[in-house]
Amino acid sequence: MVVVMTGDASDTDIEGVVAKVEAAGGAAFVSRGVERTIVGLVGDVERFYALNLRALPGVADVVRISVPFKLVSNEHHPQRTTVSVAGVPIGPETFTFIAGPCAVESHEQTLEAAQMAAAAGATLLRGGAFKPRTSPYAFQGLGETGLEILAKVRDETGLPIVTEVVDPGDVPLVARYADMLQVGTRNMQNFALLQAVGATRMPVMLKRGMSSTVEEWLMAAEYIAQRGNLDIVLCERGIRTFETATRNTLDISAVPVAHALSHLPVVVDPSHSGGRRDLVLPLSRAAMAAGADGIIVDVHPHPETALCDGAQALVDADLRELAAAVRAFPALLGRTPAAARG
Ligand code: PEP
Ligand code: MN
Repeated sequence: MVVVMTGDASDTDIEGVVAKVEAAGGAAFVSRGVERTIVGLVGDVERFYALNLRALPGVADVVRISVPFKLVSNEHHPQRTTVSVAGVPIGPETFTFIAGPCAVESHEQTLEAAQMAAAAGATLLRGGAFKPRTSPYAFQGLGETGLEILAKVRDETGLPIVTEVVDPGDVPLVARYADMLQVGTRNMQNFALLQAVGATRMPVMLKRGMSSTVEEWLMAAEYIAQRGNLDIVLCERGIRTFETATRNTLDISAVPVAHALSHLPVVVDPSHSGGRRDLVLPLSRAAMAAGADGIIVDVHPHPETALCDGAQALVDADLRELAAAVRAFPALLGRTPAAARG
């Protein structure tokens, strides 16, 4: 069950709901979104009904949710959420183009990639300073030095930063530099990490686990929401299937399926899905046609020397074609490209 507060509910109103639920032996989790606050209730539903919470000041509605992901479900939240990343929206009205290097390798490489991204119309910069790699011998990222480079490049280009956090203990450090925290596919069910990013008030991009169902993905988002943070963007990045022609199989159905179940925005990562440069444009077009709220794409000034995922990084010519598609396609579905922060 969730209690939906009115847009103008005060902290005292919210505390009043929490106190009443706790006095009845229940637990209440407050999640503050951009538009409104909702309170998730855990405990005896019949007892909660008897409390007549609807009559309390600041309460808009009390809704029984039939799915296990309560806070991120759209049953109590029919309008789609728009998440703002340092002023750049990700939501139903816009199409947000996020681009940048897979990994931050140096200031020069990151700045060049960011300039390529900005020239193509991207309004958020991606780049990993902490890299979760399959092999312990592969480049693991520059760590805090990488974050410092990202912050410098943000100052130089004006692009807010999306960057991955791998270890729950690093969340405060990464949050000091980032505009949006990314939880990668390998960590989608790292519950300690989900709770740690949920305890921040920062936007979070939650990538789908490569072997996770849509329901497991939404339950992972619920962990973040339950800690009080509803600024979550889901990212479909391809799943494991029997097919070996591509790095992963882009589950394009996940976009409308997640939209049908949740109020959260959904973006697509065509780079990690296909794992090949030549697939990024067609998969991006598919994402736009399926109603995705944005794409997140790898670019690199010199993919042949990239320390991570060079085979899928776009270079100038491909990027120009993708930029043209981003300008043309989302408009057919009534979306405008998400503008740079003002
Ligand atoms: C990434 O975006 O850099 C990344 C590692 O992606 P994923 O977690 O989807 O593999
Ligand atoms: Mn990568």
